[in-house]
Amino acid sequence: MKTMIQPLSAQAACQQKWDVLVVGGGHAGTEAAAAAARMGAKTALVTHCVDTIGVMSCNPAIGGLGKGHLVREIDALDGVMGQAIDRAGIQFRLLNRSKGPAVRGPRAQADRALYRQAVQDLIAAQDNLWVVAAAVADLILSTAGLCQGLITEDGVSLQAGAVVLTTGTFLRGVIHRGDNRTPAGRRGEAPAVALSMTLDRLGFTLGRLKTGTPARLDRDSIDYHLLTEQPGDEDPQPFSTLTEVLSVPQVSCHITYSNPTTHQIIADNIVSSASYSGQMDSKGPRYCPSIEDKVTRFAERDRHQIFLEPEGLDDQNVYPNGISTSLPPAVQDAFLKSIEGLENCRVLHYGYAIEYDYIDPRELRATLETHRVPHLFLAGQINGTTGYEEAGAQGLMAGVNAALSASGSDTTFLLDRADAYIGVMLDDLTTLGVSEPYRMLTSRAEYRLRLRADNADRRLTPLGLAVGCIGTRRQQAFTDKLARLEQARALLDSLSATPALLSERGLSINQDGKRRSAFDLLRYSHISFDDLASLWPELNRFDRQTREQIKIDGLYAGYLDRQEADIRAFRKDEGLLLPASLDYTTVPSLSIEVQQKLQAARPETLGAAGRISGVTPAALVALLRYIKKKKVKAKDVA
Ligand code: FAD
Repeated sequence: MKTMIQPLSAQAACQQKWDVLVVGGGHAGTEAAAAAARMGAKTALVTHCVDTIGVMSCNPAIGGLGKGHLVREIDALDGVMGQAIDRAGIQFRLLNRSKGPAVRGPRAQADRALYRQAVQDLIAAQDNLWVVAAAVADLILSTAGLCQGLITEDGVSLQAGAVVLTTGTFLRGVIHRGDNRTPAGRRGEAPAVALSMTLDRLGFTLGRLKTGTPARLDRDSIDYHLLTEQPGDEDPQPFSTLTEVLSVPQVSCHITYSNPTTHQIIADNIVSSASYSGQMDSKGPRYCPSIEDKVTRFAERDRHQIFLEPEGLDDQNVYPNGISTSLPPAVQDAFLKSIEGLENCRVLHYGYAIEYDYIDPRELRATLETHRVPHLFLAGQINGTTGYEEAGAQGLMAGVNAALSASGSDTTFLLDRADAYIGVMLDDLTTLGVSEPYRMLTSRAEYRLRLRADNADRRLTPLGLAVGCIGTRRQQAFTDKLARLEQARALLDSLSATPALLSERGLSINQDGKRRSAFDLLRYSHISFDDLASLWPELNRFDRQTREQIKIDGLYAGYLDRQEADIRAFRKDEGLLLPASLDYTTVPSLSIEVQQKLQAARPETLGAAGRISGVTPAALVALLRYIKKKKVKAKDVA
C-alpha cells in the first residue's frame, strides 16, 4: 500500500496515455480521481500543488443538514470523504436529533491538518491513480470536437480518453477585502486565468459568483469562561460504514453572539465592505450570508449566533462560524472586539470574499459531461455549487462517468431524484441552472423518507457494485451487513405477541386483540428494539448498528409503502427519454420562452423538462406529441 503521494512530473506524465485526467485536488477532484481509478481507469490527478490536495478552503467541518446525507451517499459509493472525516473528526454531532431519522444531519468538525492528511493517504493508497503537479491552461480537442487531453501552463500536453475539470473557486478568482483586490484562487494561491479563457473561447456560458470566509482568531486570545460550551455527541457515530472506531480525541466548540454594538459598527462601515461598495456585484450563498448581509437583511435582529470552532487539536486558529466578511481589517478588528469573549482577540488571518467564474450547469448532462465538448466533464464549485460535500458528490459521479466514457462504453451512471440526494442535486443543477451558489438542503428532496442518511448504503452500494466503482473491502462489509439485517428481520417477522401480552410486559399499544409481529411492533415510535429484546432474549444477539437500522426500517415501513406509489409515477415520466439532438426551437406549439429554456437546459427526460420553471403541463403534452410523431426511439437518445 502506498503511504505518501509520489507525484509525477508533467514531463513524465506526458509520455503516457491516460484514461482519465482530473484537474484539481479539492473535494470534487479527489473524489473524481479516486472514483475513476476504482473503475479501473488509468487516472492522473493534475493539480497546482500536491501539498494542497484535500485542503478545506473555508470552514473545517464536513456534513450538516442535507450535506451529511451527501457524505453518506459518497461513502455508499466507496468515496473518500466519509473515511477522511472519520480519521480527522474532532467533534461529531448529529443535527436535528429531536426530529425523525429522515432529516437528521450527521456533522463533524475536522482537524484541518488531519483531514488533508487523510485525503492524501487515501489518494496515495488508491490503485490506478497518479498525481501530477502542474497548472492546467488549455484543453486538447480532436477535429470532431471531443476532449482528448490537456495542456499545462508550461506547454506540456497530456493525452486522455476523458478529462474532468474541478477547479473550485480558482477560475479568474479575485479576493476582496475592503477596497483591496488580489487575484487569487483562495488565500495565498494563484488563480486559474488561462483555463477560464479556454472555456470562454470554447463557447461555454460563464458567470460570476462569490463566497466569503471569516477572520481566523488566535485561540489563546479568546476568553471562554463566559461562553456556552458546546460538546459533541457522547457517543459519536462515524460517517463511513468502513470505520470501526473513531480514535481522534474529541473537543468542544463555544457559542457567542453578535450584539447591537457589533451591528452598529458594521452598519456604520457598510460602504467599506467589498460586497456593499459596488466593487462586487455577483451573488453569494444565501444560506451562508456574510455578517454584513445579516445586519442589513435582518436589521430587526439584535444578535446572531457565532460558533467558535477550533481548526484542530494543535492549531492556534479558531474559526468563528457565522461572521464571514469582506470589511477592511480595521473594521473587522473593531466589530470582533465588540463580541463577548472576543474583547481581546487576536486575528491570525482576516476574512475576505472571493469572486470567481462558474459555468452554467445547464451546459451539462446528468452525467456531468458537457453537451458542448464530449468527453469533458465538470464537477464541484465550477458548476455553481458551494460546499465540500456538494463538490465531492459531483466529483464522484463525474469520475465514474468519465471512466465509462474513456472506456468507450455506452453505459452511463445516473442517479435520479428517488435514488439519492446526489440525484436531486444533479437534476436541479442540470435542468434549472443556478443564479446563486447552490447548496444541498433536505427540503430540496421530494422523497425524504426514502432518502435517509442511515440507508444510503442500501440505496446506493448495489448500484455502485453494478457499475463497478466499489472496492472489495466495502463489498464484503456491505454483504455482511445485509446478512445481519436479513437475519434480524426474519427473526422479528417470526415472533409475535398480542396486545394483552404486551400490556402485561409494560408495552402499551391499542387493545384491538390483533396479534402483531415483532417487526410490526417497531412501527410504534415508543417501542424500541431493546424493549423487544427484553421480551424475546434471542434478539440480544444483534449488534447495535443492526438494532438501530431495523428500528428505523420498522418506523418508516408504512410510510414508505405509500411513497412507493409516488416514486412509480415519477419514474414513469423519467422513463420518457428526450433525444439529445432535439432542436427545441423547431418544436411547434411551444412558446419562444419555453423553447429557449428547453434549448438551454436540454433535459434528458420528460420529467426533467417538467421541472424547468415555465414549462407547463400543456407544453409537456405538446413536446411528447412532437416526439412521438417524429418516432424518436429510445435507442437514438442520450
Ligand atoms: P476546491 O476545493 O477549490 O479545489 C480546487 C482545486 O483545483 C485546487 O486543488 C486547485 O489547486 C486546483 N486547480 C484550480 N485550477 C487549476 C488549474 N488550472 N490547474 C491545476 N489545478 C487547478 N463552502 C461552504 O459550504 N460554505 C462556505 O461558507 C464557504 N465559504 C468559502 C469561502 C472561501 C473563501 C472559499 C475559497 C470557499 C468557500 N466555500 C464554502 C466553498 C468550499 O471551499 C468549496 O465549495 C469547495 O472547496 C469546492 O470544492 P472543489 O473541489 O470544487 O474546489
